[in-house]
Amino acid sequence: MAARPVRVLVDMDGVLADFEAGLLRGFRRRFPGEPHVPLGERRGFFAREQYRALRPDLADKVASVYEDAGFFLNLDPIPGALEAMREMNAMQDTEVFICTSPLLKYDHCVGEKYRWVEKHLGPQFVERIILTRDKTLILGDLLIDDKDTIRGRETPTWEHVLFTCCHNQHLALPSTRRRLLSWSDSWREIIDSKRGVAGPKRPGPAAGVNGTRAVDSS
Ligand SMILES: [Mg+2]
Repeated sequence: MAARPVRVLVDMDGVLADFEAGLLRGFRRRFPGEPHVPLGERRGFFAREQYRALRPDLADKVASVYEDAGFFLNLDPIPGALEAMREMNAMQDTEVFICTSPLLKYDHCVGEKYRWVEKHLGPQFVERIILTRDKTLILGDLLIDDKDTIRGRETPTWEHVLFTCCHNQHLALPSTRRRLLSWSDSWREIIDSKRGVAGPKRPGPAAGVNGTRAVDSS
């Protein structure tokens, strides 16, 4: 019997697209006279909260940068991310999806995320975008994500692998949790560690809602 594919959910900001570098660059360009948080001093997932602590009015200023037209589209890829995604997508018995949470101010963000994926990874990956504000609702074996704590309505089926980013690099994780330091780190081994493992709370093979398998229709 063929093995069930390993399903990998890959976050976008901070994992594929360099949100933090783009934000700092945009902030310094728009507000050159204002204090900023260097990437080496970023702490906590939400940049807005750290800027608020620096000075309350800076919260809205930093948010205005990532809410602006062109911000998401013009983010640089994280080093090695595009190559890793292409390689992962070509791996036997492996399904890759991009799983990303859009801003509530979605006017530019949503369309630009789609355009970014098409521009950098091509149309076959546009088919693999999942937009959700609650990633626990999505079935998978792995979620590679830079947000340190991910909660939602469900108990996740996936193992959350923390992708190292400036804002989380100082966090000490429990020994049960795994990190990916970069796309040069051992992502292949992490995927292989899921092979042959019966996924928790998963329907049987080929029982997915849309019957999606490892092969693209395109
Ligand atoms: Mg992220």
